[in-house]
Amino acid sequence: PTENPTRATFMLFGGTGDLALRKLYPAIFNLYKKGSLSTHFALVGLSRKALTDEEFRAKIIESISSETDDKAQAEEFASHFYWKSHDVTNTDHYKELGKIADELDQKYETDGNRIFYVSMAPRFFGIVAKNLKEQGVLSTNGGFNRLVIEKPFGRDYASAKELNDELTSAFNENQIYRIDHYLGKETTQAIPVIRFGNPIIEAIWNQNYIKDVQITLAEKLGVEDRAGYYDTAGALRDMIQNHTLQIVSYLAMDEPNSFVDTEIRREKVKALESMEIYDADGVKQNFVRGQYGAGDGTPAYRDEPGVPHDSNNNTYAAGKIVFNNPRWGKTPFYIRSGKKLATKTGRIDIEFKKPIVDIFAKGTHQPAELKSNVLTLLIDPKIGITLEINTKNSAQGMHTETVDLSYLQSDARAAEVPLPYERLFHDILKGDGTYFASWPEVAAAWKYVDPVQKLWDTTQPDFPNYESGSMGPKAADELLARDGNSWYFPN
Ligand code: NAD
Repeated sequence: PTENPTRATFMLFGGTGDLALRKLYPAIFNLYKKGSLSTHFALVGLSRKALTDEEFRAKIIESISSETDDKAQAEEFASHFYWKSHDVTNTDHYKELGKIADELDQKYETDGNRIFYVSMAPRFFGIVAKNLKEQGVLSTNGGFNRLVIEKPFGRDYASAKELNDELTSAFNENQIYRIDHYLGKETTQAIPVIRFGNPIIEAIWNQNYIKDVQITLAEKLGVEDRAGYYDTAGALRDMIQNHTLQIVSYLAMDEPNSFVDTEIRREKVKALESMEIYDADGVKQNFVRGQYGAGDGTPAYRDEPGVPHDSNNNTYAAGKIVFNNPRWGKTPFYIRSGKKLATKTGRIDIEFKKPIVDIFAKGTHQPAELKSNVLTLLIDPKIGITLEINTKNSAQGMHTETVDLSYLQSDARAAEVPLPYERLFHDILKGDGTYFASWPEVAAAWKYVDPVQKLWDTTQPDFPNYESGSMGPKAADELLARDGNSWYFPN
């Protein structure tokens, strides 16, 4: 469906940063190409660098070069871009920015709509928001003001709350868009439709029928050149607190009254707040950390460039989530994420309970044991859904076998799928917060993760404890084995 292009001026803090050049400009360009933005938009790039508009535009054209061969279109797009050298702590610079924004509003007839995207080191998130408000950069003539915040959002509940207090002293919660790019992925966005659009699925989406839920966000890569950041974060903060628990919230939430962001957020928060928070013993029982050793001809984490030789940072985290609510009762959600694992995959495996009585096992033909039905949602690199069901093997006699009902998105269709940042920008332009993390969700996720991090910070691990190229530490298999379960992937 076509829609009216949105009018807006973007102000991008960190305008020549890695994220901006690699992801943000290509995403904005695709919106332009597809018509969600057209003539009535402008973007001001900001950082301390002194660039001319021409130099900035050359970077933009370079940044979008893989998205288009149309030179004239690329140049027209880049002509909407302006550069301003800006120090985030200098209040005069914000006053100047306010004037530039007014001029661009006029020139591009943007109705005073403003999007402030802070793509800088997290310590600057708060100060930018505060100065935008205090130095009068916010639109006051009826246009919208939206603040977009990159990750990480704090490093524990206390620091996240402090950041949030700073942001909300300048912007209302409904003006703040906290980026979680996993929420821009096709399969994550499909979860509510798969659940609430299919009574045959939603009817059994509870502890009566689901044995366990497994979420795997596995990376094949190691820390690469991000040791400076990663060694102070780790898998629990970098992947579990945000992406994994957000996915958990869409899987676990109750049905919203309608598919609008306020309703969805209410249900997501309820789900996250009903996760049982563990004490130290509970953490020991229910969480596993890991750090990769050498393997596959590649070095151990502690031997990677920039990593201290005695680092106790977790490059792998797994856990068992238990909900204190009627829908989930005793059904565990197992989660895991790590680096240097056997394969790159993002997937959700939902294992259903077997029949209470296996009548086939009592027959005279001794067929194979019935397997659990498993519904798999593939997030990446492949997008798809599969369902394993038991049926009869076609050989003579009564033998059962398990077959896959499978939908895998074709490469041709996958190539058409908007990039996560493109989807998220689109939603920001439309003012739709459905696929952004609200503050109460972020708070609940930190409150859940904090006791785990605290125990890990204060106890000595036995690292390294998994080989590069494996699927993680043995203890993560034992975590499931204790419940009579096992990781479905790889099977
Ligand atoms: P970066 O270091 O490449 O860019 C940061 C930008 O901020 C640069 O343009 C720099 O010039 C500018 N800057 C620094 N200090 C400044 C100051 N005092 N005043 C004005 N400008 C200043 O960082 P990045 O990798 O682009 O990351 C940006 C944000 O996105 C961070 O919050 C990061 O956590 C997040 N993020 C990045 C990635 C990624 O792949 N790069 C992925 C996920 C999240």
